Amino acid sequence: MAKVVCVLYDDPVDGYPKAYPRDGIPVLERYPGGQTMPTPKAIDFKPGALLGSVSGALGLRKYLESNGHTLVVTSSKDGADSVLDREIVDADVVISQPFWPAYLTAERIAKAKKLKLALTAGIGSDHVDLAAAIERGITVAEVTYCNSISVAEHVVMMILSLIRNYLPSHDWVRKGGWNIADCVARSYDVEGMHVGTVAAGRIGLAVLRRLKPFDVKLHYTDRHRLSEAVERELNVTYHANVEDMVRICDVVTINCPLHPETENMFDDKLIAKMKRGAYVVNTARGKIVNREAIARALENGQIAGYAGDVWFPQPPPRDHVWRTMPHEGMTPHISGTSLSAQARYAAGTREILECFFEGRPIREEYLIVQGGKLAGTGAHSYSAGNATRGSDEAAKFKGKA
Ligand code: NDP
Repeated sequence: MAKVVCVLYDDPVDGYPKAYPRDGIPVLERYPGGQTMPTPKAIDFKPGALLGSVSGALGLRKYLESNGHTLVVTSSKDGADSVLDREIVDADVVISQPFWPAYLTAERIAKAKKLKLALTAGIGSDHVDLAAAIERGITVAEVTYCNSISVAEHVVMMILSLIRNYLPSHDWVRKGGWNIADCVARSYDVEGMHVGTVAAGRIGLAVLRRLKPFDVKLHYTDRHRLSEAVERELNVTYHANVEDMVRICDVVTINCPLHPETENMFDDKLIAKMKRGAYVVNTARGKIVNREAIARALENGQIAGYAGDVWFPQPPPRDHVWRTMPHEGMTPHISGTSLSAQARYAAGTREILECFFEGRPIREEYLIVQGGKLAGTGAHSYSAGNATRGSDEAAKFKGKA
């Protein structure tokens, strides 16, 4: 029988919800492009419930315990005295969400002698040292597509919100003001702007499709080119590299995975090549941009706004500069963990566990690493290596705000 350690974010400060604003979530038949939704044999939760926090336990408790497995659910994940550090030593499976990542560094993997499966309940397995997982023959899997559209919606919201100066204008209302000139002195229309995405995978492409009706000029850069038909349909311009794309864009949205090739991509040098007053929206991963370079560019006006929900580390320390830099529209890492998304990735997690325990193959599209090499989606979109460096910093976040 296996031991499963599941690292989830804390319950709401007022306790686990007793009711929800809506009675359910829409039932989706398929993902865009045809991939089927998660297909576990059964689920033990009501879609629309909070599943991603500790008490929600991703709806897995009944399934795992009735099959004789041990389930440990904790939010304590950083620092040598964490529950994760204690429990990982004899864990067979570690489940973690990118929103509250269990950084599976080479040191932790070395301690976890029985670890066979690192399962990401979401998308993006950069919190796992993939090189170490490859070396040890650990399978790394994630629930591909589960929240791609959730994130694309968030990206569109953040682009509009930055350019229209929504959050500062809302603040004036909360403060009892009616300061129209203060609000509009930084407010523009999106129409006619050049908008580019770094990567046109599931999220990037969905962002392009959602922005097209705004009559903007669309651009993308990616390692693989979209089909001619899609390029024509969206009237989107391909750029062979990110430098060429950012030179002409008013808005840049980042939608590639974090791996050694994309880490620190937006540094001082690349930001200097952007149009003055461009906006950057990053819902991909915090480390794809250089933390200080972004803050500097906002201070000196090289970029007009920065929004996103991804930080490094997560949670970020109280003095993380992105909490206080000007013209930001930051949130905690939430775009991919709406209640709608949670239902999908909880079901996908269950599907992967069923396959693992029953000795059935895990879907190719869910695989990142298997059999000592990058596999499935991992082989297509990631490069082998380690992007978890510096994760100790997350231990500096203590207590609740
Ligand atoms: P996909 O795998 O569908 O798309 C990723 C795309 O990035 C692929 O097209 C890939 O190219 C491209 N890519 C990889 N490396 C580079 C590079 N060096 N330069 C340009 N493009 C590159 O993933 P999703 O769209 O579903 O998700 C993308 C990322 O978004 C995730 O990896 C995750 O980090 C983040 N995410 C964030 C969430 C949140 O809640 N904020 C939730 C979900 C995901 P190709 O395949 O052509 O090689």
